[in-house]
Amino acid sequence: MIILLEPDSGEDVLAAVVKHASKYPGIQTRRHVIRGTEHTVSEVYLLGDTKSIPTDGFEQIRGVRRVVRVAAKYRIIGRHGVPAETVGFEYNGVRFDERQVLLFAGLCAVDTLQNVEAMCRALQVAGIRTTRMGVYKPRTSPYDFQGLGATCLPWVFELAGKYGIRVIAMEVTDPRHLDEIGRALEQAGRPTGVMLQVGTRNAQNFELLKRLGQQQEFPVLYKRGMGISLEESLNACEYIASEGNPRIVFCLRGVKTHLGDPHRNLVDFAHVPVVRRLTRLPVCVDPSHATGRLDLDPEGIPEIFHAIGQGVVTGAAMVLVDFHPDPKAALCDGPQALTLEQLPILVEYTQRVRGAYEDARQLFVGLARQARTA
Ligand code: PEP
Ligand code: MN
Repeated sequence: MIILLEPDSGEDVLAAVVKHASKYPGIQTRRHVIRGTEHTVSEVYLLGDTKSIPTDGFEQIRGVRRVVRVAAKYRIIGRHGVPAETVGFEYNGVRFDERQVLLFAGLCAVDTLQNVEAMCRALQVAGIRTTRMGVYKPRTSPYDFQGLGATCLPWVFELAGKYGIRVIAMEVTDPRHLDEIGRALEQAGRPTGVMLQVGTRNAQNFELLKRLGQQQEFPVLYKRGMGISLEESLNACEYIASEGNPRIVFCLRGVKTHLGDPHRNLVDFAHVPVVRRLTRLPVCVDPSHATGRLDLDPEGIPEIFHAIGQGVVTGAAMVLVDFHPDPKAALCDGPQALTLEQLPILVEYTQRVRGAYEDARQLFVGLARQARTA
């Protein structure tokens, strides 16, 4: 059972809830605090056999907003039917919530210092402070480029700082990568921040997920498993939260099936509102790994932009997208990389589609208001 308190409620409410819970033998309480960008939300978990405990005793306490009998297995990341308000979080000066769309545009894999610098410079010109930079690359073939690993971290961090990048999404495939990143950031004097990315291939690597949850320094970008159900991915994601780190963004990146051909994966961005409904996590879409190609529609709009649009128009809070200064020379995923000239177009395009999402939201807010007053 979860007792959700009103946002920003005081210690007195918490104490009253804990006192009431203590009437029930064998029940333990655990407090869970979510520090959002606008509010801090506290919850109390009742642990033990809560089936026979009535909810009304808790509901009558002033400052208790709602009592939820938890059926969902993902109890921390779950929204539990509490409507629209966004929780979100802030990291290194960047807000992750549903009020805007963050563009994480960058290199699939770091290759040269010159390319990292060109990418970061283009981001600064475009007014973007977030990027992606793969350093540890999980590749299908052992003979493919595996990423530069820890050796490039010092200059990647330094360049990111030089160009005002506040957060780099960077995949980790092994718990020791967290230590390497932490050490390199410290030695570089923390010029930037890192969001640790769980790749689709590690979506159910529970030991890695637990390790990511046991640290609170870095937020996590969790990519859904490409061959498991959404429910299984949400449960896996809960591992991170249940170990103590609720600062997670859930990323859709397509699922594996030949029925998605000619795309690399079957685009699953219709799940954006589903994840938003079921969880409190901001949702990211990765159109690059979902579509895997750059073909144009008859009007000349790249299909990858349409995929981005599908995510943004349904409420995605973040877009993770591959760029490269010279895609033909990229050592990983060049065929899906946009060019630096396309970066300002992406910014403009995203703003316009986000506007369409805001319009749609207003339409339904208005309809709900009408229905209430009718
Ligand atoms: C990536 O984003 O670099 C990546 C490997 O993606 P995915 O795990 O979704 O395949
Ligand atoms: Mn890639």
